[in-house]
Amino acid sequence: MRRPSSSLPRGALFAASVMAVALVGPMGAGCTSGHDKASSNTRVIVLGFDGMDYALTKEMIAQGRLPHLARLAAQGTFQPLGTSTPPQSPVAWSNFITGMDAGGHGIFDFIHRDPKTMMPYLSTSRPEPSDKKLEFGEYEFPLTADKMELLRFGTPFWEVLQKKGIPTTIMRMPANFPPSGTATRELSGMGTPDIVGSYGTFSYYTSDPGAFHGKDVSGGTVYGVTVSDGVVKGTLYGPKNPFLVKSQEVSTGFTAYIDGQEPVAKIVVGDEERVLKVGEWSDWVPVTLKFVPTQSVRVICRFYLKEVRPVFGLYVTPLNLDPTRPAMPISTPASFAAQLAGATGPFYTQGMPADTKALMDNVFSAEELLTQANMAQEEAARQYNYVLDRFQEGLLFYYFGHSDQVSHMMWRSMDPQHPAYKASDARFKNVIPDLYQSLDEIVGATMKKMDPKTMLIVMSDHGFTSWRRAFHLNTWLKENGYLVLRDPSRKEDPGLFANVDWSRTRAYGLGLNGLYVNLRGREKWGVVDPRDRLPLMDEIIGKLTKTVDPKSGQIAVKSVFRRDDYKDTGHVEVGPDLIVGYAKGTRGSNESALGKVPSTVFMDNTEEWSGDHCMDPDSVPGILFASQPLKKPVARLQDLAAAILAEFGIENFPLRQ
Ligand SMILES: [Zn+2]
Repeated sequence: MRRPSSSLPRGALFAASVMAVALVGPMGAGCTSGHDKASSNTRVIVLGFDGMDYALTKEMIAQGRLPHLARLAAQGTFQPLGTSTPPQSPVAWSNFITGMDAGGHGIFDFIHRDPKTMMPYLSTSRPEPSDKKLEFGEYEFPLTADKMELLRFGTPFWEVLQKKGIPTTIMRMPANFPPSGTATRELSGMGTPDIVGSYGTFSYYTSDPGAFHGKDVSGGTVYGVTVSDGVVKGTLYGPKNPFLVKSQEVSTGFTAYIDGQEPVAKIVVGDEERVLKVGEWSDWVPVTLKFVPTQSVRVICRFYLKEVRPVFGLYVTPLNLDPTRPAMPISTPASFAAQLAGATGPFYTQGMPADTKALMDNVFSAEELLTQANMAQEEAARQYNYVLDRFQEGLLFYYFGHSDQVSHMMWRSMDPQHPAYKASDARFKNVIPDLYQSLDEIVGATMKKMDPKTMLIVMSDHGFTSWRRAFHLNTWLKENGYLVLRDPSRKEDPGLFANVDWSRTRAYGLGLNGLYVNLRGREKWGVVDPRDRLPLMDEIIGKLTKTVDPKSGQIAVKSVFRRDDYKDTGHVEVGPDLIVGYAKGTRGSNESALGKVPSTVFMDNTEEWSGDHCMDPDSVPGILFASQPLKKPVARLQDLAAAILAEFGIENFPLRQ
């Protein structure tokens, strides 16, 4: 049994290009050279801890639980760091990278929409499909190499250093896939897909697929398997085969042999064999997927044997790009990913490795998620030590995303008022504080290794808070007469605006904070006269900011930002007309984000995903620490790149195009 995903558009979105790139090898990862070499003894290390919250950090410092960060605060700087509008990670990191706001770098949300088709797409990168193909029997050969395109505009701050001959190592920077190619060394991070082009699609093989019947499994695929004489046969699926005229997924089979007595199984895939006990994880297993007899692509995956009797259950990670032979560019130089894998082992190349969806889809327990997330964090920490030990001069940036992903899933354990809180969640109440302590230890180990002249900056892109109430923006627009349904009696809303009557709709919500005017001449079925755009937006702002949550009696929307008010405007056209800043505790719903119009405006958030930050920016500041006073003051994330460059004696950033 295969369950199609109902999540973001994926798979088909990237698949063809992944395959074609696989055949021509990594592209676009050249290293700049030949610039005027300026000597610099300045050394700056920047540690990026995604989602580390200012208020919680301050509280833990006061409790004496973050001794190394407290030392940084005492000798240099500790302050809140203003986040981006909206405070979503791809937006925030792009603000940091370019020194510009979303109007300048063109990343406004996880997803954007194409007004010509009204279809959403992932905002940070896109495949450039090849349309020149040669048909030959059942095969179809692409005649040109496809490539991935980074959709972020603006000059990354490290490029300025690189041009002055100052070495830069930029590790796992979000919103930097494919890698910019303008650092001495780079490894791409958040935004890097798995082999099927998604942000991570797991597979789960179970002899009891009925347990998932009627449930929305959006983060992976559940396959029903049979156990026959202790043998289970399954298939690992890659992307669609671009060489077949009648497209089908490339795949390879595996076999699990269950031990007659012990809770043990042997997994065999290709030439690889792993013996696992129930509850055990395999190491990374290399797997070859064949397209045509002479062409193949390599991926890596890990197996987790969840149970063998009476039900068989085997989890397989998303098929990750093999860092030793990545099917898409993930590093600069192209060989750097393989060097890292050779030094500290294979690693998750997908940008967001913690499998939060496996928890939400009831494949993982909370404990299993934490085990898996910690394994990914340990890989990153090992790799950081390797890179840090080789750091001599210039800039080193290293990103840790574990703090964000675990906070999303575990925040309610610190909030007994959360609608999803269960008494049993109390056992997790130290998970996030412990995680902060582990980050503090990374800071301590760094301080021990660096000489006192090195500047150490520790920062986050935004803070965190409890997400108790979900707001269906499209339903609010419907109830206020801005959005009209084709069939109001329709029960099942498939999303993607399928039930929206565009001829009578003036505004719609898409993404976690975006609100768009259905503008004539821009949207495919636009009806609003461009002269009426600003008055309509002001009217919506007036009503939205007065909306009260009937459950709490509190205002649900604290601020609404007009894209016309971004300071940078070079790429503002891509963005939503309005950015909704939900009050602390309320967030735009996932349903509305993908064009659904549920029946009520407000809903309790009863999901495992219980913490968030996509709210009013002033309510969720990040952190900034520096080991010495900074030469240039920093109030917001967007100012930080200029302050880092100022440490190297470079003024004049950002570079606005
Ligand atoms: Zn987040």
